[in-house]
Amino acid sequence: MDKIKLVIFDCDGVLIDSERIANIILLEILNEIGIFLTLEEVIDIFIGTSTNFCIEIIQNRFGKSPPENFATEFERRCIQAFITDLQPVQGIKDVLSTLKLAHCVASNSGRNWVGKALAKTDLLSYFSGKIFSAKEVTRSKPYPDVFLYAAEKMGFLPQECVVIEDTPTGVRAGVDAGMTKNGHTEMINPEKLREVGASVVFNDMKLLPNLLEQNQYFVNSAKSKRDI
Ligand SMILES: [Mg+2]
Repeated sequence: MDKIKLVIFDCDGVLIDSERIANIILLEILNEIGIFLTLEEVIDIFIGTSTNFCIEIIQNRFGKSPPENFATEFERRCIQAFITDLQPVQGIKDVLSTLKLAHCVASNSGRNWVGKALAKTDLLSYFSGKIFSAKEVTRSKPYPDVFLYAAEKMGFLPQECVVIEDTPTGVRAGVDAGMTKNGHTEMINPEKLREVGASVVFNDMKLLPNLLEQNQYFVNSAKSKRDI
């Protein structure tokens, strides 16, 4: 049985508290176009979706047409809010400062954005030279490409890796990469991560060191049954 040797962190919602900010902004924009939802409902429906898919949901599920500048306006407001409000996910600094295993970050966001966000939240020193973006591979999550790319660049086999993810999209990518999947569920219903194959689901970063300790001995090497 392989032991876990590499921890691959997602960025948004796992290292930095950007998902919460982004979903509050999305709530505001939806409100402005006449869709009235609670923050929990917004998170439930939209978390982990791309902007294009978000537009499709607004059209198909709510029968509304988002303004033409929806994507740019959403991004503009997010960047503005991140500059002032972005924080690390609670407890992640303690995890990283004591983590003995090799680790890296693999995100659907661009390398530049990830670098800036980690610098803003004082986490960049833990990931120097270890930032991998889906923009460097053919397909973004939910496809496994960025996880496989990160593992290869870091010099590990997929079965030696655990991914830490906070959305069904990311967990699916971990499943298809043949890696162990730990789901962090500060914001999302844990069932949503279990449904798509998270091996372990936890809601507080303080629990992660012990889980990683256990992962070293209990590796789930089940391969995906989904077509990719
Ligand atoms: Mg995420």
